[in-house]
Amino acid sequence: MAFDSLTEKLQNIFRQLRSKGRLTEEDVKEALKEIKRALLAADVNFKVVKEFIGNVQQRAVGQDVMNGLNPGQMVVKIVNEELTSLMGSETTEIALQPGKAMTVIMMAGLQGAGKTTTTAKLAGKFKQKGKKPLLVACDVYRPAAISQLKINGEKQQVEVFSMEDSRKPAEIAREAVAYAEKNGHNLVILDTAGRLHIDEEMMEELQQIKKAVTVHQTILVIDAMTGQDAVNAAKEFHEKAGIDGVIITKLDGDTRGGAALSVKAVTGKPIFYVGMGEKLSDLEQFYPERMASRILGMGDVLSLIEKAEAQIDEDKAKEMSRKLKKAQFDFEDYLESVKQMKNMGGIGNIMNMLPMGGLGKMKGLSEDQTSQAERSMARMEAMIYSMTVQERRDPDLLNPSRKHRIAKGAGVDISEVNRMIKQFGEMKKMMKMMGKGGRRGGFRLPF
Ligand code: GDP
Repeated sequence: MAFDSLTEKLQNIFRQLRSKGRLTEEDVKEALKEIKRALLAADVNFKVVKEFIGNVQQRAVGQDVMNGLNPGQMVVKIVNEELTSLMGSETTEIALQPGKAMTVIMMAGLQGAGKTTTTAKLAGKFKQKGKKPLLVACDVYRPAAISQLKINGEKQQVEVFSMEDSRKPAEIAREAVAYAEKNGHNLVILDTAGRLHIDEEMMEELQQIKKAVTVHQTILVIDAMTGQDAVNAAKEFHEKAGIDGVIITKLDGDTRGGAALSVKAVTGKPIFYVGMGEKLSDLEQFYPERMASRILGMGDVLSLIEKAEAQIDEDKAKEMSRKLKKAQFDFEDYLESVKQMKNMGGIGNIMNMLPMGGLGKMKGLSEDQTSQAERSMARMEAMIYSMTVQERRDPDLLNPSRKHRIAKGAGVDISEVNRMIKQFGEMKKMMKMMGKGGRRGGFRLPF
């Protein structure tokens, strides 16, 4: 499997670190040197490795060790977080046009990268999500590519559009989009022609297609087995044709994995999916966090870290609830509780997680209500961020001139600042009453 050798090396490095209990700066430096070697051997881009090690070093030296972890585990935690951020931190979806509007996706990549296969795999994914895709064979050079797309389209029960007599991909794309509009398709995926190497003609072709039709997403398909070459190709594709994201194929193979670790840092574009086999169902959404955990291969340490983090959140929540009961809740605490709520996935998510049976008739918030609540929270946050720390701790300081400054900073009317301060005061009163009423306070929603 991909990353096997990297995982093994990292595990050895961390085993040594963890056996030490106390770590000197020298220990950390030595470990980082070895991590650097392991990443380079996994074919991660040199510049990316350098920056990565720099980031880890900066964070590891002088960092307090979290309760419940030893220094070695703390280094694992930092490396895990930096690996995740290297691969993009968050899962990015391919952006489709809203509602029933037509989305046009252009697939690009070198020959053999897996473009045609991936096009059909993607069509299957979108079909499951209720879209009606049309696949378009824009490869005018290889008749075999057209028939391959047709066969795969048939397997996925998705229509394939081709014009075997046309020599111009841009023209085919234009005709295909018109056909899609007439025939009720809301997603067009253009399978363009690859080449063995990057050349001007290929880039020109992609640009021509972009001129002929509105392309909403350009997705580059790269082959993980080709390592650094894949990443260099991605850089060039991005510079010349502009890409929105990447799909990495053949991660099921025995690749060293460097492409997956470098491509986001080199192009600035996210990895949408990864190909995990030749079958049309072998396409997986890309989760940077899961991939980082897999590379580190240290389930035990990572779950320990999670526990330590949860403990910190719990401690904070207890402290918050104590403050709420005493009505000492200030604007700094408000920001902290908003942060916690965001960590839990936002208002909508929290409402969905609540056991509704216990809440009587309440059925959660509609999408509209959720976004309204989230918008008003964002405005409130903007106002609080315009306050000084002293003002946040002691709202009584807020005289008219300070309020004026805050309104200006947050881009709102002063009446809105007044309203927020009033509401905040009322909320505190209410919290105090609830506290006195003996209700068990835990984490409360900040609105
Ligand atoms: P294209 O020239 O870019 O259109 O590439 P193809 O779609 O024809 O794929 C080239 C080869 O790679 C085919 O044999 C595919 O079955 C294979 N392939 C594509 N994606 C994957 C993948 O994720 N894993 C594996 N193992 N093989 C793949």
